[in-house]
Amino acid sequence: MLKVHSRCDLACDHCYVYEHADQSWRGRPMVMDARTVAAVAERIAEHAATHRLRRVSVVLHGGEPLLLGPDRMRQVLAVLRRRITPVSHLDLLMQSNGVRLSEPYCDLFAEYDVRVGISLDGDRAANDRHRRFANGASSHPQVLRGIGLLRTPAYRRLFAGILCTVDVRNDPIAVYEALRAVRPPRLDLLLPHATWANPPYRPAGRATPYADWLLAVHERWTADGRPMPIRLFDSLRSTAAGGHSGSEWVGLDPADLVVVETDGTWEQVDSLKTAYDGAAATGLSVFTHTVDEVSRLPEIALRQTGLAGLSAQCRTCPVVTQCGGGLFAHRYRESNGFDNPSAYCADLKELIVSLSARHDVEPPVTAPVDQDGTDLPDGLLDRIAAGRTDADAVRFLAESQLAITRAMLVEVADGTPVTERTGWEALVRLDREAPDAVEETLRHPYVRVWAVDARRQLGTDSAAAAQLSCVAAAAAVRAGANVELDVPMRAGVLHLPSLGAVTVPEPVTGAAVLTVEPGRWRLRHAAGTTLVSFDGDLHATAPQVTGGRWQANRRLAFAGTTILFEDLDPHRDCHDWKAAERPDASTLARWGEVLAGAWSSIEADLPHQAAAVRAGLRAVVPLVDDPTGTLRSSTARQAFASVGVALADASATAVMIAHEFQHSVLGALLDLCDLFAPSPAVRLTVGWRSDPRPVEGVLQGTYAHLTITEMWRQRASREAPGGPAHQRHEQFRTWTADAADALLGSGALTPAGNRFVRRLAAALTP
Ligand code: SF4
Repeated sequence: MLKVHSRCDLACDHCYVYEHADQSWRGRPMVMDARTVAAVAERIAEHAATHRLRRVSVVLHGGEPLLLGPDRMRQVLAVLRRRITPVSHLDLLMQSNGVRLSEPYCDLFAEYDVRVGISLDGDRAANDRHRRFANGASSHPQVLRGIGLLRTPAYRRLFAGILCTVDVRNDPIAVYEALRAVRPPRLDLLLPHATWANPPYRPAGRATPYADWLLAVHERWTADGRPMPIRLFDSLRSTAAGGHSGSEWVGLDPADLVVVETDGTWEQVDSLKTAYDGAAATGLSVFTHTVDEVSRLPEIALRQTGLAGLSAQCRTCPVVTQCGGGLFAHRYRESNGFDNPSAYCADLKELIVSLSARHDVEPPVTAPVDQDGTDLPDGLLDRIAAGRTDADAVRFLAESQLAITRAMLVEVADGTPVTERTGWEALVRLDREAPDAVEETLRHPYVRVWAVDARRQLGTDSAAAAQLSCVAAAAAVRAGANVELDVPMRAGVLHLPSLGAVTVPEPVTGAAVLTVEPGRWRLRHAAGTTLVSFDGDLHATAPQVTGGRWQANRRLAFAGTTILFEDLDPHRDCHDWKAAERPDASTLARWGEVLAGAWSSIEADLPHQAAAVRAGLRAVVPLVDDPTGTLRSSTARQAFASVGVALADASATAVMIAHEFQHSVLGALLDLCDLFAPSPAVRLTVGWRSDPRPVEGVLQGTYAHLTITEMWRQRASREAPGGPAHQRHEQFRTWTADAADALLGSGALTPAGNRFVRRLAAALTP
């Protein structure tokens, strides 16, 4: 955090820089001069290079950084970009009161890619309570004007969010509504700085007014469908699930921020200024000391020790992993420094306990879903276990998978800044107007693979979430609906999941605009130039394409109908083996023959399950051949009803498809019902592998081999005794029976798992 200007044009009475214990600002230069900026940039670049940091964040702060003026600001930004960008990705942010934000400033921030956070305490009444000019006048209109600028299309991407300091005298709903109205991409609700020496304001008779205030906001925010991320609530959800808080306010994440004052002195996090005069001082300077030397200071190292660095009371507190003792500065007491719980302890505890009671937590990864199978339709578990999965059972699993995909899309949309949710908004509209088109798109197996990735990358890579627009675009094209969307291009390719890919002649990367109308659509540069236009019903017939190339998803004959031959979707490359490139026409014809032959074999060898395969299997992904000619097949856990296979003869392909389809069925069942408790220490020996395997691997293998045993039994029944099919049948039957015994004796199965494996073992007896 760089203090580029040490004065402010507002005189907020709750400001910790000027109004609290530390008064060091009085002796500092007003502005960080060019020599100091160069030294800071050098120190940051040096640190990033030493530790090979892929990313560094620099926050321009004050006082009020906009007091620098655009020319000086440009010099600061140019030096930081010039020195740090070649070493590490540099995120530049600025925290401002917004009063002086202007178009020239916004143009400058757009040029240097600086995101801007604005401080606003709510509606006018709430904001006027503290955030006023020195003459007492309101700053509210000027701040709203600044925010308005950041909301215009030209500057929207610069808007980082709103920082609001809570005052329990303000109406929580009025504050929330006022902040929501300016559509911030993120909202921070901060407790006013306080310590045990200078306790927080509490209305008489109220034990936890801050928790009550925040819980009221949380209730309204949840009822509204969480229109923007609120960092405190999101941090508590994350820590409840064992994740990071991503914030110094709660949780046990190590401190990772240092401050440089205008004179180049290193300081600790500046909220410490609330504790006592000089609390944030280190005595070190950018001219003489490296970042590593600063981070080794005992007072900073202490804040990187997690639980061990907390007071005795916090260490034994039941909510400590979520709370983390609150903000470090808030623990200060004159008698013993920072070795205390937070001055907000009661409020933090109440907030965390109440949110847990509202189930505002991610379910722990290991949480049982249904351990005895009672939530499943009658008989479903037994039918699936016995290898008698029928079309109805597969349809039930497919519906549950669709529901999970939809839930994941909601989470991705929830975690995407409001300003980048046009794809989501279009999808929601299409879901009302053309539900079949949306549903068909969402059933594509690799939409969920993408959603899982995007969910994981929320907050770190917005590009992953941008693919939501492609999902909406595919649904719109399928429905022939009117829609205009910003869509992400990668090296000149736009992929529309479940439909195909557009390639433009130039390697465009970044956003393009897709306009869809019934029977016609057009892809153009964000700047306006048309890249490709299409006329015709894209997903039904070959369209007329001008300016680029359209590659439609291909379908091959299978099971009396056709099946998607997925050789385009970038997310299909999630199997154990590499996905093959799109085959040429003669190889594709060979695939057609093999799949047709494989279906005949499945019909003959799996009469009880062929209907399930026909009803359930949605896609085949061609895999790269094994150079030694070994058979290759694979199922990806998140890609329901899609199997990956390398090209082989029809008989072997039938076995591989049947085997992988079993994995898909069991994977979908495991999403609904826990069959085993995760036990990393348990490893079981099985006949088909030389290495001991984890329980889930053995369960999956056993279940797949149940079907392969049945296939070989059917094949053996058409062969003279003692033939190769008899030997294969006997081998698979023995492997499967032994593995079922090992599972039943492992102690790792749930009641439903025990029942499942017993049924499976019983089905092995002819
Ligand atoms: S709730 Fe209180 S005691 Fe518990 S961790 Fe937080 S500050 Fe410490």
